[in-house]
Amino acid sequence: MEIIRIPSIMREIAKDLIIKGKSIGFVPTMGALHEGHLSLIKRARDENDYTVVSIFVNPTQFVQGEDYDRYPRDVEGDKEKIEKIGIDYIFLPDVTSLYPHGYSTYVTVESLSDKLCGKFRPGHFRGVATILCKFFNIIKPTRAYFGQKDYQQALIVKRMVEDLNFGIEIIICPTIRENDGLAISSRNLYLSDEERKASIIIYQALKKGEQLLKEGVNPSEVSLKMKEILENEPLVSEIQYTGVFDPFRLDELREKQDKYLLAIAVKIGDTRLIDNIIIE
Ligand code: AMP
Repeated sequence: MEIIRIPSIMREIAKDLIIKGKSIGFVPTMGALHEGHLSLIKRARDENDYTVVSIFVNPTQFVQGEDYDRYPRDVEGDKEKIEKIGIDYIFLPDVTSLYPHGYSTYVTVESLSDKLCGKFRPGHFRGVATILCKFFNIIKPTRAYFGQKDYQQALIVKRMVEDLNFGIEIIICPTIRENDGLAISSRNLYLSDEERKASIIIYQALKKGEQLLKEGVNPSEVSLKMKEILENEPLVSEIQYTGVFDPFRLDELREKQDKYLLAIAVKIGDTRLIDNIIIE
């Protein structure tokens, strides 16, 4: 396994592999790797000749006042976990190599970026689209892997790849959960024991929503019920959004249709957590 820090070197390595006709799987991460990340990395390894995992806490996707400085970082632990899986390259650039003095270009995927999380994290998806655009240009992967856990992000990336003709296959992998249903996330590390216990309410609300939809209850009523469940948990300090949404346009649904996105963003104490499920 090689660790590459310089974007131009990463580009040369990728170019060489492409000339040799090799497929490249790419898994972008912000590090502090957990089972959710590792499931993506294993899948990329299994489906491609070579795999590149990037570890980069991208400053442009953090909104002012968010946790950029205290975001968990554990590069040594990450390297060990990736090495065990048997991956070829870790791309570990530093901030100035990707955003040098004078940097001025940003990519915006319109409409989708303003909904759900975008309303509460203005500029977040612009940062995500920008860094992924840069990574895609450097690595030119055959396939890139994303978690359904960040469903809106995956949808936006798919849109960008199609709109900007990247010709990269975007693969969305299932959300990996703890035994009690909580979606695994690097930010779960912020939770106190009490908050951790309370956080299972998110998955419980999603599952209740799923059950009601399957029973034929109207989406607007399902959304209300999910909200009520979250409101009844005293450690939920803020409900940013909850309910039944269109899985392609991300608008809230009032009427029945074939496919639904059930999605939640809440704060438990000071920690913002998101989760979703798709129902067909
Ligand atoms: P992050 O390091 O949080 O930017 O996440 C990197 C990738 O891992 C993203 O595509 C996430 O959607 C994915 N991911 C994070 N948590 C999970 C999880 N619990 N299950 C599956 N994928 C995940």
